[in-house]
Amino acid sequence: MTLSAAKTSHAGIERRGIMLILSSPSGAGKSTIAQRLLETDERFSLSVSVTTRDRRPSEIEGRHYHFIGRDEFVQLREADALLESAEVHGNLYGTPRAPVEAAMQAGRDMLFDIDWQGAEQMQAKAKADIVSVFILPPTMAELQKRLTRRAEDSSGTIEKRLRNARQEIARWVDYDYVVVNYDLEQAFAEVQAIVAAERLRCARRPGLRHFAGSLIEQKLAGLDV
Ligand code: 5GP
Repeated sequence: MTLSAAKTSHAGIERRGIMLILSSPSGAGKSTIAQRLLETDERFSLSVSVTTRDRRPSEIEGRHYHFIGRDEFVQLREADALLESAEVHGNLYGTPRAPVEAAMQAGRDMLFDIDWQGAEQMQAKAKADIVSVFILPPTMAELQKRLTRRAEDSSGTIEKRLRNARQEIARWVDYDYVVVNYDLEQAFAEVQAIVAAERLRCARRPGLRHFAGSLIEQKLAGLDV
């Protein structure tokens, strides 16, 4: 798969697209940050995962997830139609391969709301294009409060998610960046800053070599050397 073929043009200078992975335990604010990023930055497309979990009342098929049965999930996985897949809180989740390939070839940046298992698999496949960010809740007590406040899941589900949160949190060290969500505005600004800096990386801007070369030539010509 040619995931590294992504190029996007801004101010006339091409750059490689980024594959931004956001991970966090449920309830740390990741979905809100992801949503904001999509609303404010038109260069991003969201990777819509497939999952076997039940749809929450507020969720829309095809927008938040593609909700499918276990048999269909296994078929997709066996047909190599998923870029990565994992079991999270007893449900299966996976990233459909085709939309990612299409978006990257069209030169767009891609946003992935996936867990550490998915992040690990993606790193192995497209390391140069991945930027991974782990979002931490300020405290476990705050995480519990946020999970309970959401009130779309049963109390059993909330308990299971809290138990799993400790293990997930331990994975933050494997990410490129960590953002602690003390305050949503601040956390979002930090994610935006990461994206801005990553877009400026020299390795993502091969087109600049030509541009910088001609700038130097112009300077030299002006100095008549
Ligand atoms: P939720 O059920 O709360 O929407 O998501 C539960 C967890 O599954 C979250 O940590 C979310 O990031 C993760 N997740 C969602 N989609 C995928 C996916 O396609 N792959 C993997 N590995 N994790 C996913």
